[in-house]
Amino acid sequence: MRFTGTRSCADAESAFAIASGLVSDGGLFVPQEFPAFTADEISAMVGMDYCGRAMTVLSKYLTDYSEEELRYCVNGAYKGSFDNDEPAPLADIGKKRKMLELWHGPTCAFKDLALQLLPYLLTTAMKKTGTGREAVILVATSGDTGKAALAGFADVKDTRIVVFYPVDGVSDMQKLQMITQKGQNVSVCAIEGNFDDAQNGVKAIFTDAEMKKFLLDSNMEFSSANSINFGRLVPQIVYYVSAYCDLLKSGELKAGEGFNVVVPTGNFGNILAAVYAKKMGIPVKKFICASNRNNVLTDFIRTGVYDRNRKFYTTESPSMDILISSNLERLLYILCKGDSTQVAKYMDELKNTGRYEITAAMLAELQSEFYGGCCDDKEGKEAIAKIFKERNYLCDTHTAVALSVGDKYREETGDDTLQVIASTASPYKFAAAVLGALTDEKLPEDDFEKLAMLSSLSKTEIPAPLAGLKGEEILHESCVAKEAMKEFICRRLS
Ligand SMILES: *Cc1c(COP(=O)(O)O)cnc(C)c1O
Repeated sequence: MRFTGTRSCADAESAFAIASGLVSDGGLFVPQEFPAFTADEISAMVGMDYCGRAMTVLSKYLTDYSEEELRYCVNGAYKGSFDNDEPAPLADIGKKRKMLELWHGPTCAFKDLALQLLPYLLTTAMKKTGTGREAVILVATSGDTGKAALAGFADVKDTRIVVFYPVDGVSDMQKLQMITQKGQNVSVCAIEGNFDDAQNGVKAIFTDAEMKKFLLDSNMEFSSANSINFGRLVPQIVYYVSAYCDLLKSGELKAGEGFNVVVPTGNFGNILAAVYAKKMGIPVKKFICASNRNNVLTDFIRTGVYDRNRKFYTTESPSMDILISSNLERLLYILCKGDSTQVAKYMDELKNTGRYEITAAMLAELQSEFYGGCCDDKEGKEAIAKIFKERNYLCDTHTAVALSVGDKYREETGDDTLQVIASTASPYKFAAAVLGALTDEKLPEDDFEKLAMLSSLSKTEIPAPLAGLKGEEILHESCVAKEAMKEFICRRLS
């Protein structure tokens, strides 16, 4: 399997794509063709555990990794770090709906499924590409990615990780998760600014000539743990394949019988992984793309116009508060039938005017497989309350967006195909908002008391990684002006 770029022809093996993160022209690495499963391979996966299924999927794309290397990566990532060694269990919530629970890992969000594996894939790739340099992973985060990347890269040999978060732009629990992170190779720093400032700062540092020289002189190189890296995308294909296998195993689906997926979407990485799973032969019928009030994707799917020139809202589902969905570029590449010149043109327009419009033929193809819908915080809260009342099932604010949009889709279309809903975070990560949906009682000030209140109200347990934060030592107190990010990195790397 070889990889090309979304904006120009490229020809690389997976190790190179993973080690470098981005194509040098700013495009994203995509497979030159999609590998497909045979019916026998799918039957075999039904009898395997998650690691076995992951091996089968990864070996189709990462053909330059040996079987031993892949086994080392997969076992390292998934054995021992998820509840019951089940990274992606399905929970039934009635009315032909299944929650694909992706938050049983060390940081209680779905980012763990990819970021537990990425450090193994990346360090193995670096050995294979053989520069002998240390990788410096730069991350700008609005919450979940930062902690998941820290947990994945902490004390990983030959890597350093530096995370920047907006000082007032993450939840208290998310902040506490990051500033208590242990590890010899980790740095965490707040910046006086918002998430965009953090992201722009990181992007500028990536291409800064002075920084490049500084890194080379120190025998280091930058890399990315963002979902633009193919190494973060491929682990996400696995859980859709695994969900299908589980449904075959339980007899709820027959071989080849279709199902719909509903995904709470921000950067478009999670739902794109479902598209890749379908390309490999998993019978997904509809991709239901759920957005919060920042509904740029809903409009795009309905009209073919992508327009980021709009008001940005801060919502109760902050990890979906985003106006530029980077991974949509990979879907455009598919819709354009691999015309990278066309994709480059759209991306130029997006950069220069904030807007582009796809052709009628592309829109027709998009709409044949995608449904776009959105809901606001009030509808999200109603969804949390309803599913708790009906099924005693607790879900977080991001998952609630998917639940609400999945129901709207059924009402509008009458399509009652089984829905697999991506459940992306533990409700305890957003305890205040979830409690607000369930009770009118006054909430306690203290964050751990909120967790306790949610636990007694729902009769579920507080996830150990969150309960364990209580009393942990604060290790990272730096906060710098956004202009001083570069200086911070140099100081830490010297
Ligand atoms: C990152 C995140 C999302 C959005 O996922 P994308 O792959 O960026 O579309 C949704 N929910 C939660 C809880 C997240 O952390």
